[in-house]
Amino acid sequence: MTTERLIAGLRAIVGDEGLILDDHAMQPYLISWRDNWRGRVPAVVRPRTTDQVAAVVRACAHEGKAIVPQGGHTGVTGASQPHDDGSEIVLSLERMNAIRAIDADNDTMTVEAGCVLADVRAAAERADRLFPLLLGAVGSCMIGGNISTNAGGVNVIRYGNTRNLVAGLEVVLPDGEVWDGLRGLRKDNAGYDLKQLFIGAEGTLGVITAAVVRLFPKPRAEITAFVAVPSPQHALRWLVRAKDAFAEQLTAFELIQDICIEVTCRRIPGLHNPLRTASPWYVLMEVSGQGSEDALRAALEDVLAAGLEAGELTDATIAASGQQRDMLWRLRESIPEAHKHEGVSFKHDISVPISRVPEFLTRIEDELDKELPGLRMFTFGHLGDGNLHFNPLLPAGAAAAPGDLQRVNTAVHDLVTAFGGSISAEHGIGRLRLDELTRYKSPVELRMMAALKQLFDPHNVMNPGKLIVPPAPAQK
Ligand code: FAD
Repeated sequence: MTTERLIAGLRAIVGDEGLILDDHAMQPYLISWRDNWRGRVPAVVRPRTTDQVAAVVRACAHEGKAIVPQGGHTGVTGASQPHDDGSEIVLSLERMNAIRAIDADNDTMTVEAGCVLADVRAAAERADRLFPLLLGAVGSCMIGGNISTNAGGVNVIRYGNTRNLVAGLEVVLPDGEVWDGLRGLRKDNAGYDLKQLFIGAEGTLGVITAAVVRLFPKPRAEITAFVAVPSPQHALRWLVRAKDAFAEQLTAFELIQDICIEVTCRRIPGLHNPLRTASPWYVLMEVSGQGSEDALRAALEDVLAAGLEAGELTDATIAASGQQRDMLWRLRESIPEAHKHEGVSFKHDISVPISRVPEFLTRIEDELDKELPGLRMFTFGHLGDGNLHFNPLLPAGAAAAPGDLQRVNTAVHDLVTAFGGSISAEHGIGRLRLDELTRYKSPVELRMMAALKQLFDPHNVMNPGKLIVPPAPAQK
């Protein structure tokens, strides 16, 4: 009866309002965003304070129950997804959603892990600052989840990944001890930088309860353009020109294949291609700065004219209002939702050196043509970071045959590796890529990861079965 005893203990910590036991009410915590996994747990626990999180972790450790930390549950690798054997509980941070403090002069904000990213950005804005992390799930993902996945998004080219945006952390360790590392420092060389271990750890080393995040001056002008380019090679030349012209003022540079625009406009009401003639590829880009909007717009027009002259682009439109800018971004951010409904696909979140993206795309199309003829290429992503969402689709209405997924994944990830790239640029490993880690990470990397896990979580109670490949038994 340990489960009954555990639930009584959890109720004593978080009260009835902090506990979900009803099967129906639990479902949103148990079904993954892409609906490819369903979990089963005896309870979803929703603490309100760090002390409550620590007490929940201790109670679970005592009963040997594993914990799946969960934020907005928008991750796409199954990392926040409980298994279906009832061996875990979900620990949702959603009720820990306070902004604890803003220090505008220090350009930092202390936030609880369950703050929705959109709310963190809005709080920064109210303080006349920018919190630059931005991704399609902004309205539902939470800062603790963003930190635990080291989320990327559309502004990495200027501000870096989430790792670059975190100054301090508060973490409940797997034995229930609280580490208060909520320091808002730019410089701190007094020992190992421990917070880095928890950033991108996918909840396998502890539960992040709060963070000090970095803020930036709010840009006074932002100009967004949608540009037609004949090919990824042309997009790369255009990127190099835009970087030369704008340096750190270039804040987003997204490459989008025509099929992504076509499918999204067909499937999502209210969206249309803002250019009159279709092009094989597009770039959605943004420049921002502290000067006047007119000056920035004029500068972008000049650079666009030079790009046209050089044949790097064939057409472009600049958003003339906030409404048009929002529409362009909605078009980009709706691609994953539209893609989800377009049939069977093989999804990859890869990175290669920026300079090699065009060559990679040509080579992989040839490889896949041999492996699985008839695939519809469906590629979009953050060209400015060398990160592509490479998600080819089967022909409309077709079903995958056994082995198709593995053949496509192996072809894509082998080529990524040959190009010196990564099989997970920003989404993480979770359950989705766990088996592939052994193939693509070196034994020494796998050993170091397993050793860290063993040190922090010797009983394997923090998000087991995610990210960490159990070490192979020692050879006698
Ligand atoms: P969850 O999905 O709840 O959890 C993710 C991982 O973090 C899990 O391992 C979980 O156990 C762990 N975790 C959560 N909270 C904590 C905590 N407090 N302490 C310890 N561990 C914790 N990702 C990108 O990087 N870039 C994109 O551009 C992007 N675009 C997306 C667009 C859409 C439409 C969708 C649905 C997803 C997108 N994602 C993107 C993926 C996802 O939104 C991110 O991975 C996001 O950072 C996850 O945050 P979350 O709060 O939903 O975390």
